[in-house]
Amino acid sequence: MGNSRPKVVIVGGGFGGLFCARRLKNVDADVTLLDRAACHVFQPLLYQCATGTLSIGQISRSLRQELEHHHNVTTLLGEAVRLDPDARRVTARRPDETTFDLDYDYLVIAAGMRQSYFGKEEFATWAPGMKTLDDALSIRRRVFAAFEIAETLPPGPERDQWLTFVVTGGGPTGVELAGQIRELATRALANQFHSINPEDARVLLFDGGDRVLKSFAPALADRAQRTLEILGVEMHFGVHVTDVRRDGVTVSPKGGAPSEEYASRTVLWTAGVEAVPFARHVAEVLGAQTDRSGRISVDADLSVPGHSEVFVIGDLAGRDGLPGVAENAMQGGLHAAACIRRELSGAARKNYRYRDLGSAAYISRGNALLQAGPVKLAGLAGWLGWGFIHIAFLTGVRNRFSTVGTWLATITRANRSDRAFILGGSGHPEEPYTWESPVHQSYTARQQKSA
Ligand SMILES: Cc1cc2nc3c(=O)[nH]c(=O)nc-3n(C[C@H](O)[C@H](O)[C@H](O)COP(=O)(O)OP(=O)(O)OC[C@H]3O[C@@H](n4cnc5c(N)ncnc54)[C@H](O)[C@@H]3O)c2cc1C
Repeated sequence: MGNSRPKVVIVGGGFGGLFCARRLKNVDADVTLLDRAACHVFQPLLYQCATGTLSIGQISRSLRQELEHHHNVTTLLGEAVRLDPDARRVTARRPDETTFDLDYDYLVIAAGMRQSYFGKEEFATWAPGMKTLDDALSIRRRVFAAFEIAETLPPGPERDQWLTFVVTGGGPTGVELAGQIRELATRALANQFHSINPEDARVLLFDGGDRVLKSFAPALADRAQRTLEILGVEMHFGVHVTDVRRDGVTVSPKGGAPSEEYASRTVLWTAGVEAVPFARHVAEVLGAQTDRSGRISVDADLSVPGHSEVFVIGDLAGRDGLPGVAENAMQGGLHAAACIRRELSGAARKNYRYRDLGSAAYISRGNALLQAGPVKLAGLAGWLGWGFIHIAFLTGVRNRFSTVGTWLATITRANRSDRAFILGGSGHPEEPYTWESPVHQSYTARQQKSA
């Protein structure tokens, strides 16, 4: 390590990276927290941002602000793109495509997972995933714009397409999104349109298994399924979405029965996850094993075999079926920091022991599931437990107060206050309005000519 202070580089400021950086406060080391978005996002509430309940400011916080009193911690905006394990150097890319290097004595990889389309990346054009703030805003734009577009169309198949929403994947995110869109249609939007009846909106949920929420006890998952049915979500099990187009999806039953087509202009993808590209590169250059989704195999102390100076934590850590949940990432972050602290003070590392504190899933207004050891709650009791947990781990005191206030307002009134969406300039082919289409360009050209 030489004579200067040891350098710790943390890649990713999600739950794992943030908790690691916090625990390294005042350690005699220079800590750099690198994140491609420069903010911590509370992913469990992304769907509430996507469906207009919460703002992006309520579910995220600038890492620079969050760590401003951690004087030995520097936060940097940049995407890690290369690792040189011999030189112990990470290369990061700035948004303008230029790069810079960070040297390390300890490296903590906490870059998380991204949405997986199982090799069909082209689906992403029409079916956004749900992992980032960009995803949440993209979904918000598509969902609210779909109702607006339907309002301008005469009754018929085209209007029906805009009022049909497809959600792939019956895990917590799929269930939360599907329930929220139906709730939006039947409450917040119900009386605000003149031509369409938003309550006619169909929400189709497709899953390859035989029920929703497979990680929950069957009795709780059954309760959730009944609630979704009452809300009007149409659930289809034992099927895979095998094609996604601008105007619909193809759904294939697992048993080999004929495929079916469903017309829809809004498809949302929550069906699978895979390691972010940098993690795949890391595994390659370190010669580390990965599982099918790209999680990196780690030793009992969460370091990469043969590279004790490199830790992999959170969703990316592949060991003993560690779950992809926030609690595992937070505990992993604290553990990696504790290992570094101990080693710097001459003590030996300890092995990582994950403590399962349970899981929760939101189903509908005042209705959630909470499962923690023998405790299994549903309905209002589940919702209160769910709310308490989410507020406890949301970053920033202001965010906590304002989120509780927004929830109370949402539960007592149908209103959703964060429905604004941005249309222009993204250049996505799925842009719901045609600002950049040839029609608009020729119109603009004519205007310019006649001026
Ligand atoms: C929609 C949704 C709902 C969820 N709900 C729940 C829930 O209710 N309960 C629960 O326990 N868990 C939930 N989870 C899972 C939980 O959010 C994850 O397990 C947790 O976020 C993992 O933390 P992490 O630190 O490993 O990764 P993340 O939190 O994903 O953080 C990764 C960070 O790395 C950054 N990054 C990625 N690549 C790079 C790079 N190359 N260079 C620099 N930075 C990079 C990203 O910007 C991000 O900030 C949910 C996840 C999602 C997506």
